[in-house]
Amino acid sequence: MLEEIVKRQYQSLGVDEDVYEFGSEILKELEPRFEEIDKISECNHLRVMQAFQKNRVRTECFNTATGYGYDDVGRDTLEQVYADLFHGEAALVRPQITCGTHALALALMSNLRPGDELLSPVGKPYDTLEEIIGIRPSKGSLKEYGISYRQVDLKEDGSFDYENIEKALNDKTKLVTIQRSKGYATRPTLSVERIGELIAFIKERKPNVIVMVDNCYGEFVETIEPLDVGADMMVGSLIKNLGGGLAPIGGYIVGKKECVENAAYRLTSPGLGKEVGASLGVMQSFYQGLFFAPTVVASALKGAIFAANIYEKLGFDVHPNGSEPRFDIIQAVTFHKPEGLIAFCEGIQAAAPVDSYVVPEPWDMPGYDDQVIMAAGAFVQGSSIELSADGPLRSPYTAFFQGGLTWNHAKQGILMSLQKMKEKGLISL
Ligand SMILES: *Cc1c(COP(=O)(O)O)cnc(C)c1O
Repeated sequence: MLEEIVKRQYQSLGVDEDVYEFGSEILKELEPRFEEIDKISECNHLRVMQAFQKNRVRTECFNTATGYGYDDVGRDTLEQVYADLFHGEAALVRPQITCGTHALALALMSNLRPGDELLSPVGKPYDTLEEIIGIRPSKGSLKEYGISYRQVDLKEDGSFDYENIEKALNDKTKLVTIQRSKGYATRPTLSVERIGELIAFIKERKPNVIVMVDNCYGEFVETIEPLDVGADMMVGSLIKNLGGGLAPIGGYIVGKKECVENAAYRLTSPGLGKEVGASLGVMQSFYQGLFFAPTVVASALKGAIFAANIYEKLGFDVHPNGSEPRFDIIQAVTFHKPEGLIAFCEGIQAAAPVDSYVVPEPWDMPGYDDQVIMAAGAFVQGSSIELSADGPLRSPYTAFFQGGLTWNHAKQGILMSLQKMKEKGLISL
């Protein structure tokens, strides 16, 4: 009875009965996995609560600070909450860090000096990092400041190329950057455990090297985080996992005191560091977003797994596949033609709470090499912890799908993408 009502409600939003039934069949098989995700989320919720309670988060923390921001209690307490939660010595969690790319640039530029070398032992980093490093020539890149870069790709089977990593480590190597999530690549995402194995190998050979983990999209997918396995810094965006959909801006760096201090002196100014930078009234959203984050990440994960199983069944290449374990919230679906990528994104957009009536189109996005199509009808502009899909318009035409503040909405978006594919004759159910 209730099932019929729900189905009719879907129909009134344009999702046909056969599309809905196709999804329902797949969902039945996913119940055990969803239970496991809920357990991880429960564990992470408790960790968040412990950090809140230990640091006596209180109403005063939500007060608006302006001007220089000396003694901004909300900001300072939140940074201690992050440090405790992720087992770091210190944290920088600020609205003045404008996004994940900025947080990563800050961590790198403040901890490297001219003559140093940066190493990525996990292959090509995320697109926007290419300009930070100077892989693609760019104003203000590390390369312009005389900081060199070396890269060791993952092996064909996704394993670490230990032999070449050992060779790449040299006297100049000051910092090693490890990207947890696959980003826009089709390599596997690294589990925290695997990151730990890599860090152990590197630190055995070069104990003083700084290891930074680009933690974007990975937070709260597991019950441990990179600092638990020997990383010196973990870095990410607040309009992804940890902002819980509520943070309107921001980035974070958590880790060794010295690394975080270096970043703070770079963010504000030598001599000022963490002491300034008023939180301007965003603190409640930062705290409340972190409070919601474990649940939001669980919703996004369920959406990713649901999408993988649907599109796998229809014969598309999905990555990770329908049954693999998950280490980030990103789902890649490869369509092998632009029409598939575009139809998928149109479906996600049509299911959005905001801007559902617009049709997404490919555009030249700053920081990216190819044209990108993005579907995002988000409360926070560009937020990719909210249900969103994007992909570069290049072969093999892969849509990267992520987010979903609630499981209900993730499900609705995926069913709508399926509907658009069906309407354009790209699939038959
Ligand atoms: C999103 C992302 C970034 C960049 O973050 P923005 O907030 O988009 O600037 C960097 N690395 C990875 C792996 C990402 O997923």
